[in-house]
Amino acid sequence: MAKVRPYLFYDSAISVCGTCLRRVEATILIKEGRVYMDKWCPQHGEQRVLIADDADYYRLCREVFIKAPELPRRFNTLRHWGCPYDCGLCPEHMQHSCLTLVEVTDHCNLRCPICYADSGPHRPGYRDMATIETMLDAIVANEGEPDVVQISGGEPTLHPQFFDILDAAKARPIKHLMVNTNGLRIAKEPAFVERLAAYMPGFELYLQFDSLRDEVHQVLRGARLRDIRLQALDALNRHGISTTLVVTVKKGLNDHELGEIIDFALTQPCVRGVTFQPIQNAGRTENYDPARDRLTLSEVRRRILDQCPLFKPEDLIPVPCHPDSLAMAYALKVDGRLMPLTGMVPPQVLIEGGRNSIVLEKDSGLHEAIFKLFATNHSPESQACSLSDLLCCLPQVMAPEGLDYRNVFRVLIMDFIDAESFDLRSVKKSCVHIAQPDGTIVPFDTYNLFYRDGHRERLEALRAMVDRGNAE
Ligand code: SF4
Ligand code: SF4
Repeated sequence: MAKVRPYLFYDSAISVCGTCLRRVEATILIKEGRVYMDKWCPQHGEQRVLIADDADYYRLCREVFIKAPELPRRFNTLRHWGCPYDCGLCPEHMQHSCLTLVEVTDHCNLRCPICYADSGPHRPGYRDMATIETMLDAIVANEGEPDVVQISGGEPTLHPQFFDILDAAKARPIKHLMVNTNGLRIAKEPAFVERLAAYMPGFELYLQFDSLRDEVHQVLRGARLRDIRLQALDALNRHGISTTLVVTVKKGLNDHELGEIIDFALTQPCVRGVTFQPIQNAGRTENYDPARDRLTLSEVRRRILDQCPLFKPEDLIPVPCHPDSLAMAYALKVDGRLMPLTGMVPPQVLIEGGRNSIVLEKDSGLHEAIFKLFATNHSPESQACSLSDLLCCLPQVMAPEGLDYRNVFRVLIMDFIDAESFDLRSVKKSCVHIAQPDGTIVPFDTYNLFYRDGHRERLEALRAMVDRGNAE
């Protein structure tokens, strides 16, 4: 009898070596319902990485939730060394910027043991206004009317010209402006929050919120922050400032409290949703061992479904812009009660409609409404509007009068690609980008691996390796 390999060969891939980051060939294989990537580096040998603990969900991302790539108005670099050494955006990139970050400082009033920016009190200095305006202009030139721009850092609220930066962003045709913050100033300075409230609507805080427990904050943030977080939320509720809670998830530390955090979020009127981000193995990653601590998107999804009975598997689905890295559930929030939406959609609309474009006439509007809602490029107004469109197609749901952004609740899993999980096919679809002072726009995943300060030498060495290979 012929010998048979003990797994299903699903695909070939191009990845990077987990040690030296050179481009290497890889194999995607499925074994006992789990998906692995096997890589081989001529210098560092073999590496096997778990990339999903749910093969059915992985295949849904690869085969069903796909759509034609939306392009930016222009590209910013040329093809020369090949992906991922040409960022960006180079003409090979397959998705425009749904969300673009602008880092305004590396300075921070915390020094989290896990910080991909390696920020902290030890890094003084702020980007000047002229540079920040150049970065904002580059985003506008790429996108026309950028969907979401996020002011980030370090801790951006410490920038001495923080409100000038918000004014500069608001003066441009940006649909939705966000500030990524650890919340310390918000908790402590009532006048500061009052001033922030003046930027509503079209403004939102992306508030670090890893846990309801101090022990977890101590590990991830190096400080006991529970009370600070609650004080910040009190202030945001008082002023009705839209807020997304952002949870960095570490296996064995806080992955058992995802449901509890969602329940808590529902009690906070200002909260529009929760974003869960498994740790990306990049930047400062003290006490993090990928072999022990890595969590895949499908594992986070499984934990949410186990801990939050309200959501069913059909509610938490891949985001078509970048299905490998993003999964989302939408729910209608009325009087603190949640009603998940996609579970009410007939499965053939989601599945057949994605697999091929032959959708029953009566279902095509519904399919379009779902894909529109499940794009990440939403302003609050467009989100409420897409939600209304979807509700019109779901007659069994009674939509409340005057539905607006306050009735939207999102659960998002955002899994940034790192050296372990790197798959070139997937990284080309990345839709979360970061603006650079030189006018380039780099996918956030590749930025943290190759393009951040301190990685330049490594990037040049990798490019030189490509040049040598081409010369031979
Ligand atoms: S990640 Fe995108 S922008 Fe960067 S090199 Fe690859 S295709 Fe180009
Ligand atoms: S993760 Fe955020 S809060 Fe922590 S050090 Fe980095 S920038 Fe500061």
